[in-house]
Amino acid sequence: MAISEIDKLIQILARLPGLGPRSARRAALYLIKRKENILHPLIEALRMVDTAIRPCGNCGNLDVADPCAICTNEKRDRTKICVVADVSDLWALERTGAWRGLYHVLGGLLSALDGIGPEHLLISPLVRRVEEGGVTEIVLALGATVEGQTTAHFLADRLLPFGIQISRLAHGVPVGEELDYLDDGTLIQALEARRSL
Ligand SMILES: [Zn+2]
Repeated sequence: MAISEIDKLIQILARLPGLGPRSARRAALYLIKRKENILHPLIEALRMVDTAIRPCGNCGNLDVADPCAICTNEKRDRTKICVVADVSDLWALERTGAWRGLYHVLGGLLSALDGIGPEHLLISPLVRRVEEGGVTEIVLALGATVEGQTTAHFLADRLLPFGIQISRLAHGVPVGEELDYLDDGTLIQALEARRSL
Protein backbone atom coordinates (compact mmCIF):
# COMPACT_ATOMS: atom_id res chain seq x y z
CA MET A 1 0.00 0.00 0.00
CA ALA A 2 2.69 2.46 1.03
CA ILE A 3 4.80 1.58 -2.00
CA SER A 4 1.94 2.12 -4.44
CA GLU A 5 1.22 5.58 -2.96
CA ILE A 6 4.85 6.52 -3.46
CA ASP A 7 4.69 5.08 -6.98
CA LYS A 8 1.72 7.28 -7.72
CA LEU A 9 3.69 10.34 -6.59
CA ILE A 10 6.66 9.29 -8.73
CA GLN A 11 4.43 8.80 -11.77
CA ILE A 12 2.94 12.29 -11.39
CA LEU A 13 6.35 13.89 -10.86
CA ALA A 14 7.70 12.08 -13.95
CA ARG A 15 5.08 13.89 -16.07
CA LEU A 16 6.64 17.27 -15.21
CA PRO A 17 8.78 18.82 -17.98
CA GLY A 18 12.45 18.08 -17.45
CA LEU A 19 11.87 15.20 -15.03
CA GLY A 20 12.31 11.63 -16.21
CA PRO A 21 11.43 8.55 -14.10
CA ARG A 22 14.84 8.55 -12.44
CA SER A 23 14.83 12.19 -11.32
CA ALA A 24 11.16 11.77 -10.34
CA ARG A 25 12.17 8.98 -7.94
CA ARG A 26 14.88 11.21 -6.46
CA ALA A 27 12.47 14.14 -6.13
CA ALA A 28 9.82 11.96 -4.46
CA LEU A 29 12.27 10.66 -1.89
CA TYR A 30 13.56 14.18 -1.32
CA LEU A 31 10.03 15.43 -0.64
CA ILE A 32 9.24 12.55 1.73
CA LYS A 33 12.43 13.05 3.71
CA ARG A 34 12.00 16.81 4.01
CA LYS A 35 8.38 17.22 5.03
CA GLU A 36 8.83 20.40 7.04
CA ASN A 37 11.21 22.27 4.77
CA ILE A 38 10.02 21.26 1.29
CA LEU A 39 6.87 19.12 1.21
CA HIS A 40 4.61 21.29 3.36
CA PRO A 41 5.60 24.62 1.75
CA LEU A 42 5.15 22.93 -1.67
CA ILE A 43 1.64 21.74 -0.76
CA GLU A 44 0.82 25.26 0.42
CA ALA A 45 2.22 26.84 -2.78
CA LEU A 46 0.35 24.37 -5.01
CA ARG A 47 -2.91 25.07 -3.18
CA MET A 48 -2.39 28.83 -3.57
CA VAL A 49 -1.63 28.49 -7.29
CA ASP A 50 -4.64 26.22 -7.75
CA THR A 51 -7.12 28.64 -6.19
CA ALA A 52 -5.63 32.08 -6.91
CA ILE A 53 -3.90 32.01 -10.30
CA ARG A 54 -6.04 32.53 -13.39
CA PRO A 55 -5.51 33.63 -16.99
CA CYS A 56 -6.03 37.32 -17.73
CA GLY A 57 -9.16 37.72 -19.86
CA ASN A 58 -7.48 40.51 -21.80
CA CYS A 59 -3.98 39.24 -22.58
CA GLY A 60 -3.76 35.59 -21.42
CA ASN A 61 -1.06 36.26 -18.80
CA LEU A 62 -1.30 34.30 -15.54
CA ASP A 63 -1.91 36.33 -12.38
CA VAL A 64 -3.97 36.51 -9.20
CA ALA A 65 -5.94 39.39 -10.72
CA ASP A 66 -8.02 39.55 -13.91
CA PRO A 67 -7.20 41.82 -15.74
CA CYS A 68 -3.59 41.14 -14.79
CA ALA A 69 -1.10 43.50 -13.17
CA ILE A 70 0.56 44.26 -16.52
CA CYS A 71 -2.74 45.14 -18.26
CA THR A 72 -3.73 47.47 -15.41
CA ASN A 73 -0.31 49.09 -14.99
CA GLU A 74 -0.73 52.77 -15.95
CA LYS A 75 2.99 53.11 -16.61
CA ARG A 76 2.99 50.57 -19.46
CA ASP A 77 2.81 51.82 -23.05
CA ARG A 78 -0.71 50.80 -24.13
CA THR A 79 -0.05 51.55 -27.81
CA LYS A 80 2.32 48.57 -28.16
CA ILE A 81 1.49 44.88 -27.83
CA CYS A 82 4.12 42.14 -27.86
CA VAL A 83 2.64 38.82 -29.04
CA VAL A 84 4.15 35.66 -27.49
CA ALA A 85 3.32 31.96 -27.70
CA ASP A 86 3.39 31.16 -24.01
CA VAL A 87 3.53 32.79 -20.58
CA SER A 88 7.14 31.54 -20.26
CA ASP A 89 8.06 33.86 -23.16
CA LEU A 90 6.33 36.76 -21.39
CA TRP A 91 8.36 35.97 -18.27
CA ALA A 92 11.57 35.87 -20.33
CA LEU A 93 10.84 39.33 -21.77
CA GLU A 94 9.82 40.73 -18.37
CA ARG A 95 13.09 39.45 -16.89
CA THR A 96 15.01 41.65 -19.33
CA GLY A 97 12.96 44.74 -18.37
CA ALA A 98 13.37 45.91 -21.98
CA TRP A 99 9.68 45.79 -22.95
CA ARG A 100 7.41 48.50 -21.53
CA GLY A 101 4.34 47.80 -23.63
CA LEU A 102 1.55 45.26 -23.12
CA TYR A 103 1.45 41.57 -24.11
CA HIS A 104 -0.80 39.06 -25.80
CA VAL A 105 -0.28 35.36 -25.03
CA LEU A 106 -1.52 33.11 -27.88
CA GLY A 107 -1.41 29.89 -25.87
CA GLY A 108 0.72 28.07 -28.46
CA LEU A 109 1.76 28.23 -32.10
CA LEU A 110 0.10 27.13 -35.33
CA SER A 111 1.19 23.60 -36.19
CA ALA A 112 -0.24 21.52 -39.02
CA LEU A 113 1.70 18.55 -37.63
CA ASP A 114 0.04 18.75 -34.20
CA GLY A 115 -3.33 19.78 -35.63
CA ILE A 116 -3.23 23.23 -33.99
CA GLY A 117 -5.20 25.71 -36.07
CA PRO A 118 -6.04 29.42 -35.54
CA GLU A 119 -9.22 28.42 -33.66
CA HIS A 120 -7.10 26.75 -30.95
CA LEU A 121 -5.13 29.93 -30.22
CA LEU A 122 -6.18 33.31 -28.78
CA ILE A 123 -5.94 34.99 -32.19
CA SER A 124 -9.47 36.42 -32.39
CA PRO A 125 -9.08 38.20 -29.01
CA LEU A 126 -5.85 39.77 -30.33
CA VAL A 127 -7.60 41.01 -33.49
CA ARG A 128 -10.38 42.39 -31.25
CA ARG A 129 -7.86 44.31 -29.14
CA VAL A 130 -6.44 45.91 -32.30
CA GLU A 131 -9.96 46.62 -33.63
CA GLU A 132 -10.82 48.47 -30.42
CA GLY A 133 -8.18 51.05 -31.39
CA GLY A 134 -5.29 52.75 -29.64
CA VAL A 135 -2.73 50.13 -30.68
CA THR A 136 -0.03 51.43 -33.05
CA GLU A 137 2.52 48.62 -32.99
CA ILE A 138 2.41 44.83 -32.73
CA VAL A 139 5.70 43.04 -32.06
CA LEU A 140 5.62 39.35 -32.98
CA ALA A 141 8.00 37.59 -30.58
CA LEU A 142 7.26 34.05 -31.68
CA GLY A 143 10.70 32.53 -32.00
CA ALA A 144 12.57 31.24 -35.03
CA THR A 145 11.01 27.79 -35.32
CA VAL A 146 8.93 26.79 -38.36
CA GLU A 147 5.78 27.06 -36.20
CA GLY A 148 6.85 30.50 -34.91
CA GLN A 149 7.40 31.81 -38.42
CA THR A 150 4.17 30.28 -39.76
CA THR A 151 2.23 31.89 -36.91
CA ALA A 152 3.96 35.25 -37.47
CA HIS A 153 3.00 35.24 -41.16
CA PHE A 154 -0.58 34.28 -40.36
CA LEU A 155 -0.90 37.09 -37.78
CA ALA A 156 0.74 39.63 -40.08
CA ASP A 157 -1.85 38.82 -42.77
CA ARG A 158 -4.69 39.27 -40.28
CA LEU A 159 -3.32 42.50 -38.81
CA LEU A 160 -1.91 44.33 -41.84
CA PRO A 161 -5.37 45.67 -42.91
CA PHE A 162 -5.46 47.75 -39.69
CA GLY A 163 -2.59 49.91 -40.94
CA ILE A 164 -0.54 49.55 -37.76
CA GLN A 165 3.17 48.86 -37.53
CA ILE A 166 3.93 45.14 -37.35
CA SER A 167 7.43 44.06 -36.46
CA ARG A 168 9.19 40.88 -35.49
CA LEU A 169 12.19 40.22 -33.31
CA ALA A 170 15.54 40.36 -35.04
CA HIS A 171 17.33 37.20 -34.16
CA GLY A 172 20.90 36.16 -34.55
CA VAL A 173 19.98 32.81 -33.03
CA PRO A 174 19.98 29.40 -34.69
CA VAL A 175 16.71 28.38 -36.32
CA GLY A 176 14.72 26.25 -33.92
CA GLU A 177 15.83 28.23 -30.87
CA GLU A 178 12.94 28.89 -28.52
CA LEU A 179 12.45 32.36 -27.10
CA ASP A 180 12.53 31.19 -23.49
CA TYR A 181 16.01 29.73 -23.94
CA LEU A 182 17.62 32.97 -25.14
CA ASP A 183 19.86 34.74 -22.65
CA ASP A 184 18.68 38.20 -21.56
CA GLY A 185 21.30 40.09 -23.61
CA THR A 186 20.35 38.35 -26.85
CA LEU A 187 16.67 38.90 -26.13
CA ILE A 188 17.16 42.64 -25.46
CA GLN A 189 19.15 42.96 -28.70
CA ALA A 190 16.51 41.05 -30.66
CA LEU A 191 13.82 43.35 -29.25
CA GLU A 192 15.69 46.61 -29.88
CA ALA A 193 16.68 45.60 -33.41
CA ARG A 194 13.15 44.46 -34.31
CA ARG A 195 12.31 44.74 -37.98
CA SER A 196 9.15 46.03 -39.55
CA LEU A 197 7.22 43.54 -41.67
ZN1 LIG B 1 -3.37 40.95 -18.92
